[in-house]
Amino acid sequence: MLDSYPSHPIPNTKPKTVNGLSNGYLTPPEDGKVFIASVSPQVRASLAATYNISERRAGYMIDQLLRGPQGLRAGGKFNNGFTWVIDTNVMREICLSLAAEEVAQSLSHTNDSDSPKRPILTSACPGWICYAEKTHPHVLPHISRLKSPQALTGTLLKSVLSRTLNIHPSQIWHVALMPCFDKKLEASREELTDQSWHANPNNTSSHPPVRDVDCVITTRELLTLASARSISLPSLPLKPLPITPFPDPTLSSFLLPSHHASNSSSSSGPSGGYLHHILTHHQRLNPGSSILTTRGRNADVIDYVLLSSTNTPLLKCARYYGFRNIQNLVRKLKPPRTGPRLPGAVAASRGGVRRPGQSGGPSAGGKDVLATEYAYVEVMACPGGCTNGGGQIRVDDVQQMNMNTNGASSGEEMEGVEMATPISKPGPQEQREWLARVDEAYFSASSDTDADEDEGEDEGLERPSIPDVLAHWSSVTGVPLEKLVYTTYRKVESDVGKNRPNGDIGTERVVELAGRAGGGW
Ligand code: SF4
Repeated sequence: MLDSYPSHPIPNTKPKTVNGLSNGYLTPPEDGKVFIASVSPQVRASLAATYNISERRAGYMIDQLLRGPQGLRAGGKFNNGFTWVIDTNVMREICLSLAAEEVAQSLSHTNDSDSPKRPILTSACPGWICYAEKTHPHVLPHISRLKSPQALTGTLLKSVLSRTLNIHPSQIWHVALMPCFDKKLEASREELTDQSWHANPNNTSSHPPVRDVDCVITTRELLTLASARSISLPSLPLKPLPITPFPDPTLSSFLLPSHHASNSSSSSGPSGGYLHHILTHHQRLNPGSSILTTRGRNADVIDYVLLSSTNTPLLKCARYYGFRNIQNLVRKLKPPRTGPRLPGAVAASRGGVRRPGQSGGPSAGGKDVLATEYAYVEVMACPGGCTNGGGQIRVDDVQQMNMNTNGASSGEEMEGVEMATPISKPGPQEQREWLARVDEAYFSASSDTDADEDEGEDEGLERPSIPDVLAHWSSVTGVPLEKLVYTTYRKVESDVGKNRPNGDIGTERVVELAGRAGGGW
């Protein structure tokens, strides 16, 4: 895409604004595109572990590749680079705040019919969402209506830039750097296009729907991209680049520079910290309360109870990571059967025959305690969470890279950056050790010693609060906030196990569909 269109000109000064809207822009070339990227913290952590650098410096590495003079700009037809590289951690702050609100609303029993049912289940993992839509539609009413940080970033960028630069959303090309391939499926959802938030509901534009995220690249694909352009990532200067102001001063000071937000401590987990934020939010509301953590049947199932100062349970939450555990979760949320019971089921209930993963006996009319007492469950498809996404750099990739680097080391300048030492022959134990390194890089962002030294130019703008940002976003675009931040889910007919023409398999079909729709596959 960078080689297919000229770049849309962006003034290098703060735009003058009238009523919050910028004016005075040049008439852009009709086929000009604004190139913008967003980067997840797990991608930075994977690169940081690979190159033995801090998470912050891995961010600079990505920034230099996407925006810098020695990066993608150095080649290609139009010498295009990305105008902005946004940290999805910034948008995650909005997600966390709205997630806590959603849970508080469900606890206060003021839920309307559009709000999710308790326990509310995380919506940020597309692997989990696709699975629920295809195989367990009974859990859909529980899924948080909130868009993921990737999707929310896409909506914010396209809705605000199209308005402030007075261009069509199709003239903005947004690539997201993510830890997994499932994010490509998320980007291809029909719910996540400009049709869902366009200010004019009767939009009669001849344009087909424009996606909020045009392309998703995984961490490993980022390495491939650099290599295809003969760019050595460790040779890029690991320093911040000057920042082009976002053409809306309020959002500029919220979004830029990146790295405003850290990944918090290890207790917030490697997947964005939704559950941790909700628990600590309620802990602050209840002085003297404490959080009791109990490990479940494995390290990916954890129970959390917020206890009052007198040890009364105030809030129950849980974490379920990995499909093996998710299967147990969805079973627990299954509504009780109302029809005539089969003899086997009667025998099971009498004789205590229980399938693995089923909870200890019926309660509340046959529903599991999780369905009746829990407020929130953080659900992620990958065992170990997002730092372990399928698109991350694997330990054997590092080994391969080291072999290549050593084999061709005569020419490659590493500028003080060393690849991580490979951990012998990778087996399950080595994979675990590697994941521990990536996790360490991910959590190191909260105690980053490079921060002061490298801090980029600060324009002295006060960072707006999240409620102010949300109100401003809605006012600039003229779109009600609900249309910008929430999404919907639907039952998807699965053809798994059914006869398909030409012996096609499900995964291939999904990839083909995503590709046809212009996705990043
Ligand atoms: S848990 Fe895995 S599949 Fe889900 S969003 Fe994270 S990396 Fe992607």
